[in-house]
Amino acid sequence: MTGIVVLGSTNMDLVAYVAKAPQRGETVTGREFRTVPGGKGANQAVAAARAGGDVSMIGAVGTDDFGVRLRAALDGSGVDTDRLRTADGPSGTAHIVVDDEGGNAIVVVPGANGTVDHLAPGDEAVIAAADALLLQLELPLAGVIAGAEAARRHGVRTVLTPAPAQPLPPELLAATDLLVPNEHEAAVLAGTTDPGAAAEALLRQVPEVVITLGAAGSLYAARGAEPVTVRAPRVRAVDTTAAGDTFVGALAVAIVEGRPMPAAMAWASAAAALSVQRPGASSSMPYRPEIDEAAD
Ligand code: ADP
Repeated sequence: MTGIVVLGSTNMDLVAYVAKAPQRGETVTGREFRTVPGGKGANQAVAAARAGGDVSMIGAVGTDDFGVRLRAALDGSGVDTDRLRTADGPSGTAHIVVDDEGGNAIVVVPGANGTVDHLAPGDEAVIAAADALLLQLELPLAGVIAGAEAARRHGVRTVLTPAPAQPLPPELLAATDLLVPNEHEAAVLAGTTDPGAAAEALLRQVPEVVITLGAAGSLYAARGAEPVTVRAPRVRAVDTTAAGDTFVGALAVAIVEGRPMPAAMAWASAAAALSVQRPGASSSMPYRPEIDEAAD
């Protein structure tokens, strides 16, 4: 078991499946609707726990029914929710449209996540005891920075998924060990759509970068080393909603187990490839035996 703390969002995903996503002003009839526990933080926590990590979640759910379900879903995947607060008001929600090509469009309403703008008493001790802290940008930046700086104080490795894409404050970059953007986020941060050039630019700000490239795999770059591209398994994607979160959760487990980065990325790619072949976000994430078998 490896100690991973996730400081991040919990959202109820409200997912509509349609042939083609509506344009502005247009109404389309969907085929199916599901409510699925999600949020980038919770998704990474579930992915890491299912991949075999010992995972604790710091964040907040609301006092509504969604909050009860969100906590239960984390518990059900083996994530420790002792540090998950219950904040007055609604839980976070994500309104997701998935089209027939497996593409998606998402609106996130933060709800309780908006209250996590600081660490609560006891959070820092949990972070200090971990091997890695996973962060994303669906909490207030002040909360994300507080977590990253706490990890830095205790020599705990930080892995930041810069989503939703936005410019990052210098104090957050200074406390980030590994940055894991997708192609879009990398372009926003680096100002270029060429992944190699983006990685090179980002290395001026953080020591290690993994850029995920969808079906094309992922690119690893570290200061003073040649970049490495790891190909993704060729599969038929039906829903890519949580591919990146599955990848990061599994990657974190492999890293804290001491695997070298290209091997960790190949294993995380196997996990993400399994998740895109099934509908749903956290519900589509694979368990360790499946990942090991697929990665063979
Ligand atoms: P995000 O979900 O954050 O947009 P990506 O689309 O880059 O991120 O996907 C993350 C990872 O998931 C990729 O690096 C890859 O390993 C895997 N993945 C995503 N889409 C596919 C696909 N169609 N086939 C195989 N693997 C995929």
